[in-house]
This record gives sequence, C-alpha cells and structure tokens, in this order.
Amino acid sequence: MSDPQRVTVAGQRLRCGHCGREGFRQEATALERFPIGFLQLGGLFGHHATIYACARCGFLHWFFPVPGAEHETQDLPRPGDAAHADKG
Ligand SMILES: [Zn+2]
Repeated sequence: MSDPQRVTVAGQRLRCGHCGREGFRQEATALERFPIGFLQLGGLFGHHATIYACARCGFLHWFFPVPGAEHETQDLPRPGDAAHADKG
C-alpha cells in the first residue's frame, strides 16, 4: 500500500470532507463495475473516476474527469521528518 499523499484538484488543496486531514490514497475505478446510476453518470463524464480515500478516516472523495481540472499529488512530510518541518 502506498503512503498517503497530498492532493490538489483544479488548483484547490483537497481536504477530507469528514475529518479535515490532507493525506489520501488514490484509487482509480472503472464505472462499469457499479450499478446503473453510475453508468449513466459515466455516459456524461467518461468511464473512469478517480477516488481519493482519506488515509485517516477512509472517507471517499470521487472525481470524474473534467477538462482543465488537473490533479496533482505530492508526498506528505513523514511524521519523523522533523528536520523539514516549518516551525514558523
Ligand atoms: Zn478523513
């Protein structure tokens, strides 16, 4: 399993909608595996979604591909990495 990452979507830092944390694990899924409601959405937005699962509480954040909405990920500072912590 990969380390949690910080995620930016369309220029906006993603924060968990439940716990407010910024560490996520990324999953991509094919919508064909989901019930009909998702298939209809798939017809509008394409057949794949990106899912970010909060590394702390597991809350899922779903994104359909939208032109111009770039996704960026970067490694979170590790808890033991105090040398790089910003104390300001
Ligand atoms: Zn959370």
